[in-house]
Amino acid sequence: MRVACQKTARVLQRVAEAVEPGITTGDIDALMRQYTKEEGGKPTFLGYGGFPGAICISINDEVIHGIPGGRVVLPGDVVSLDAGVWYDGFTGDSARTVMVGVIDPDVIRLVETTREALEVGISKVKPGVHLSDVSNAIQGVAEGAGFSVVREFVGHGVGRHLHEEPQVPNYGAPGRGPILKPGMTLAIEPMINLGRRGVRVLDDNWTVVTCDGKPSAHFEHTVAVTEEGAEILTLAN
Ligand code: MG
Ligand code: MG
Repeated sequence: MRVACQKTARVLQRVAEAVEPGITTGDIDALMRQYTKEEGGKPTFLGYGGFPGAICISINDEVIHGIPGGRVVLPGDVVSLDAGVWYDGFTGDSARTVMVGVIDPDVIRLVETTREALEVGISKVKPGVHLSDVSNAIQGVAEGAGFSVVREFVGHGVGRHLHEEPQVPNYGAPGRGPILKPGMTLAIEPMINLGRRGVRVLDDNWTVVTCDGKPSAHFEHTVAVTEEGAEILTLAN
């Protein structure tokens, strides 16, 4: 599991560094496949539920599950990359939003707040706490900054399968849900909208966009519950 997550971290880092104006989402997908192959792994998302790409690429008002293709990345775009690498029977799952060129200050704040919400959520992870304490912390950071939390899609357990129990919402009252135990591995992934929280799925049956057309940001790490607290498995060493 650690190895698969380290591979996920390295591949996502390399892919993120390649995102610049003029690159197409199809080019990014090709890099995902190449870098994953170099790690001796397989792109977890390729074919998952019929997903046609190796990586989800969601730009601006696209929240998650964007399909790679001919779209060209432009200055001012915020590009969310979500990927996992399969290796030796395990997968990691990690995401980040990359800012390309000069970005609107409100959107910079959205991206930084989403990253912070993930960090604060992870900081709550330790044995004995309720899962919803993590959820509540994420919601507090996001809504405290004036943004809204996507509710239709949530984090999840991860390991031998991409999506395992339990679900990890990014909202909710504290003190509820399962109690965290050492050895659990969770994908924690706030999806935060600049405007209202509503989302809808496009006719491609994958791409999730904000209903109000305003930007969204997404950060995700795979985290292990340890005896002391949390270990972020998808942090590149
Ligand atoms: Mg993911
Ligand atoms: Mg995930």
